[in-house]
Amino acid sequence: MKNAKKILITTESHEIFIVRVNRRSNIRGFCPDCAEEVELLTLDEAVSVSTRKTRELIREIEADAVHSIETLSGHLLLCRRSLLEEKKARGNELEKKL
Ligand SMILES: [Zn+2]
Repeated sequence: MKNAKKILITTESHEIFIVRVNRRSNIRGFCPDCAEEVELLTLDEAVSVSTRKTRELIREIEADAVHSIETLSGHLLLCRRSLLEEKKARGNELEKKL
């Protein structure tokens, strides 16, 4: 284990939600897993974007395959990036062409 690396992960407990309502009503906020500001989707939007069923998505959220944030009001917001990466992982063939 000569090459073992020590990785320090610091977690900041701030929670910032920037909600900008424009034509597409984008929600942006801080994803703790990505450690940066990302586009967040409601569960319904995520179902539309990913063409997966709500139950299927919830299972993926619980398995941490898709990042999610629960707001103080109890709404679940999903990290769009992790959702699309999950989708991309399913179709690796496209990526090989790039
Ligand atoms: Zn994320």
